[in-house]
Parts: sequence; structure tokens; C-alpha cells
Amino acid sequence: MLSNGIKRELTWIVFFAWLLMFFAWLTDLWIQSLFIFILFYIGRQLWSMRKFENWMDGRKANSYPPASGLWSELTYLVSKKQRALEKHADLNLYKSEQFKAASMLIPDAIVSLDEGNHIEWFNTVSKSLIGVRRQDVGHKIESVIRQPEFIQYLKLQDFDKSLTLNSLYKQSRTFEMQVIPYFESHKLLVVRDITELYQLAQIRRDFIANASHELRTPLTVLRGYLEVMLDTPGEHQTTWKLPLEHMETQSLRMQAIIEDLLTLSTIEADSITAVKEMVDVPKMLHQLEEDARQLGNENHHFVFDIDDALVIKGFAEPLKSVFMNLVSNAVRYSPEGGAISVRWFKENNTVVYEVEDEGLGVAQEHIPRLTERFYRVDKDRSRVTGGTGLGLAIVKHVLERHHGKLVIDSVLGKGSVFRCEFPVK
Ligand code: ADP
Repeated sequence: MLSNGIKRELTWIVFFAWLLMFFAWLTDLWIQSLFIFILFYIGRQLWSMRKFENWMDGRKANSYPPASGLWSELTYLVSKKQRALEKHADLNLYKSEQFKAASMLIPDAIVSLDEGNHIEWFNTVSKSLIGVRRQDVGHKIESVIRQPEFIQYLKLQDFDKSLTLNSLYKQSRTFEMQVIPYFESHKLLVVRDITELYQLAQIRRDFIANASHELRTPLTVLRGYLEVMLDTPGEHQTTWKLPLEHMETQSLRMQAIIEDLLTLSTIEADSITAVKEMVDVPKMLHQLEEDARQLGNENHHFVFDIDDALVIKGFAEPLKSVFMNLVSNAVRYSPEGGAISVRWFKENNTVVYEVEDEGLGVAQEHIPRLTERFYRVDKDRSRVTGGTGLGLAIVKHVLERHHGKLVIDSVLGKGSVFRCEFPVK
């Protein structure tokens, strides 16, 4: 099938060929007529090409496109394509303007950053919330938000998590910051004032911390009396021995719960203010090795494999409770004689603390819920072994503070691996 342009051109050629043949027949100058025809055809093509070029260039006023033959068809196709592109560009511009207008109304600060973290645009709230100004466009966001925690957050590029800051742009309020990667390494920085929310959570945390603290003293008194009664010979020793022992076990459990609740609220309360330090984890783990053997009454077979040169930046006391909690769980949920391996090593950009046991294991459906407060697979067993139901909740919180994560791999009846992963630069 011939295209429209070729058809037009052929019509034109046939028309002039007839005209020249007629001329040649009249004058009997056949060769000269053919020569004139070729010359005329080339000249016409060059003239149309020039007209087309001027029209495409668009710099000369009054330049019209060629109106006949193949060139007029080309002109038509080019202008059709151009109109479609313009329409598309208009639509894109409209959409981007609509998005920008909507983002101006959002009560959170939104800043668009390019792949090098330079500011591209920002919404109105950004001015008052983080102090970004028109002249900051093109500059790095780090020159506007200079907090070391924010700079570290950008460097780590772990944008699944948000960052909480307790002051920004001379305002002592609480802010939640989240970077959302989009379109070819570009990022959206969203900053939200969460002071009220944070205060509410703080009231809840304070309540739990105060209640636990208040319960500690009366419980210590009760335990004191119980111990005295159990140690003092007399009639109650025979009649009340069993109930007294039961009361002592329960009061010990209560004390463990209170201690764990206090640990949890301390970790949460410190989450913004505490400063990280270098933690000598290998030293900590060698001490833990001793405690672990005593905890298992020497009934378990421990293997400690520790990289002695591997220290990390973090929070010492919370880390200690993570290490201890996982070992204590391995002991409590393993039968006597079971092997327990504790490892501390580096794997690519991750430092790993891993505890593996050959104990009861956990069915797959329970695994996602193990870090919830007071979630236990087997309540009775947890109680008998002195569990509080808060151990793994503490582990999860501490790891979050270190931008790390807990990975649980377990097979029911075979054993479990609890793996803490700490990202390092
Ligand atoms: P608990 O004080 O009850 O042990 P945790 O928060 O430490 O509370 O653990 C939650 C639950 O996870 C436990 O009740 C137990 O069912 C399960 N669990 C934890 N560690 C192990 C383990 N090593 N093997 C089998 N189950 C475990």
C-alpha cells in the first residue's frame, strides 16, 4: 500500500510527464524535454526542502510549509505529532502544578530532593517548620537541617524507618521525619510535628514507669516477710510451707515483670535523648558466657563463637539485656543437655548477634507475634520457667533504637535461631 505522500508525489510526476511528452511531441525535442523535466523536478524538490526547513526552524516570520507532493504530507504528519506532544506536555505540566498546589495545603513540611540531596522545591509549611527559604533551592538539605542525627539518617539510607528529633529550627518540639525515595533516586522529605502525640505516649510511658516503680517497694516488703516466715521454724512451717513457697514464687514473677516493664519504659524514654557510645560487645559476651552457664545450671552445652575485635556504637545497657534475654530464652525453651550456640560476627555491612538452640521451636503462625508485649506461645511453660512475656518486646525496641532488626527462624520441635542484625557503614 502506498502512503498518501507517495501517491500525491506520483500524481504530480505523472501530470508533468504528460505535459512534457506533449511538448516533446510538438517540438520533436525528446532528449531536451527529458533533461528539462529532470532539472525542473530536482529544482522543485530543493525549493520544497528549503521551505520545509524554514517552517521547521520557525525563526523566519511568514514562512509557510510546502503545500504539494510528498512534502505537504510530511508537513501534515510533523504538525500532528507536534500537537500531540504539546498536549502531553500541557497535561504533565497541569498534573505537576496540581500536585504542587495540593502539597502546599498539607500541614506537614514536604521538601523534594534530587539524587545528591539538593533541594528542588518545598511547600509553604516547610518555611515555618524547618526554616527552608527560597534561596536554599539548589543547596544541600544538610545545610538547612544540621542535626547530626538527621545527617546520619541520610547517610545510612535506611528509609523504611522514620527519625524523631526533639528540636528543629529553634523550636523545642518533637518532629518525625521520613524520607520517601521516588522517581530515579529523587526523594521526598516529610516532616511532621508530633509533639501532642508524643506527649500522650509520654503520659502512657510515665504512667507505666511510675506504677511499676510504686509497686516495687511494697513487693520488696512482702518478699522480705515471706523469706523470714519461710526461714523461721515454727508451726506455720508445716501447715503453711507450700502456700508460702507458692507466694514467694509468684512474688518473684511479679518482681521480674516490674523490672522488665521498667526496662521497657527506660528504653522508650531514652529513645530521643540518649547518646550512643562505643560498646565492647566481645567483653560483654564473655561475661555473659559465665552467667549463661549458671542460668542453665550447667545442664546445657554452650558454644560461644565471638569475634573479639568487633565493637559497635550503641547503648550498652539495653544491648546487654538483648544478649541476655535471647540466651535466657534459649535455656528456658530447650531440654536439658541441649546445645546452645551464641555467635557474634560481621557479614558484609551487618553485624550479627545470633543465638541458636535445639529446643522446642515455635510454629510459623506465632513467629510474627512473638515480639508483642505479653505474647506467649505457651503461657504455662513461660510462667513455670519464670518468663515475663516482655523479653522479646525489649529485644525489638532495643534493636529499633540501633536501626537493626530481629530475624526469627524456627522449626517446631527442632529448634530456633534468633538473629539480631545491626547495620554498619
Ligand atoms: P517469655 O518471658 O514468655 O519467654 P519472651 O518475650 O521472651 O517472653 O518470648 C515470647 C514467647 O516466644 C515465649 O513465651 C515463647 O513462647 C517464645 N520463645 C521465645 N524464645 C524462644 C525459644 N528460644 N524457643 C522457643 N520459643 C521461644
